[in-house]
Amino acid sequence: MRIGRILGIPIYLHFTFLFVLPFFALIFGYSFTTLYGFNIGFANLAVDDVGKLSLGIIASVIFFASILIHELCHSYVALRNGYKISGITLLIFGGVSEIEEQPGEAKGEAWMAFVGPGSSLVIGVVVSTLYFITKDLTGGVELQALVLMFSLIGFYNILLGLFNLLPAFPMDGGRVLRALLSRRVGFMKATKWSVDIGKMFALGMGIFGVLTLNFILILIAFFLYSGAEGEYQQTKVTTLLTGIKVGEIMTREVSSVTPDETAHELLARMLREKHMGYPVMEGDNVVGMVTFQDVTTVPDERRDATKVRDIMSKNVIHVPPYMEAVDALKVFNDRSIGRLVVMVDGKLIGILSRTDMVRAMDLLAAGIRPTHEPVQRP
Ligand code: ZN
Repeated sequence: MRIGRILGIPIYLHFTFLFVLPFFALIFGYSFTTLYGFNIGFANLAVDDVGKLSLGIIASVIFFASILIHELCHSYVALRNGYKISGITLLIFGGVSEIEEQPGEAKGEAWMAFVGPGSSLVIGVVVSTLYFITKDLTGGVELQALVLMFSLIGFYNILLGLFNLLPAFPMDGGRVLRALLSRRVGFMKATKWSVDIGKMFALGMGIFGVLTLNFILILIAFFLYSGAEGEYQQTKVTTLLTGIKVGEIMTREVSSVTPDETAHELLARMLREKHMGYPVMEGDNVVGMVTFQDVTTVPDERRDATKVRDIMSKNVIHVPPYMEAVDALKVFNDRSIGRLVVMVDGKLIGILSRTDMVRAMDLLAAGIRPTHEPVQRP
């Protein structure tokens, strides 16, 4: 859900946020802990339930506003470095800035990653100072509420800043570490090292969580571990595929089917030619795509009576040969499909499947450039 636009960047709320905000409001309103001199939570304040709940809601809104500031700082530096940003999303574990993928070494990555937690620390330290100045003042319940608000916001922002500065992927600190390392050992190795540190950190956290039976800690460790691994795979794929165009890695010898073929014939062809999907052609026009999954929806005894035109998907997603392979991969993932039709001026010139993609990456990882000649954008 889009809630507004700051610095020209659209700000979204993820649906999980609708659960986490009331949850935080309840925790803040009805709990009380003392940590490192901070008094956190409004449970002991002499106000009724409406008061506690309202303070809880205000505190969670301010807390998420400070997460938004954290993300805006990332985005601001990203914009200054010439990146495009598709948006900022607030979700269950904080915020995400969707900064466009950057192949190879990201320009200004260290600073871009640092300003987020940096801003959280600045907010945290300023608000905490207000807390320590006001905590011994005597006054009514309004003053006490304000002091507790300073304490909570100050504490959580410092925590947010420190936690994000941990030098472990996928935390911001992991990015800072990678940027610093990559000046010495190169981008891929730096990514690998930072990711490994991130995984070790997540494992340690998970083990500690199991030993202390802290379920939240185990959950966070799990998210960190898979986040680190995902980041590594993503970087590997982006780095390998950078500069490679769809036309270089697609399959050119396309075998196609007609809409009048039966499901039975199609299945026989799939077994024979070992393709799992075909474009459906009527003359020179692509009218659909048909896959193994489509055939399996037809019961055995009806395969002779069913035509390809009845089971094909008519919504054919096509891409030009000069599209970046990385972008094609995004189309695969966004639409969750297995193959793309490659077209020039409405004419089919090839098919790009996930298998083509995997093969190309295997070749590239071995230092071999894929087969076809490079394609220029017309
Ligand atoms: Zn951050």
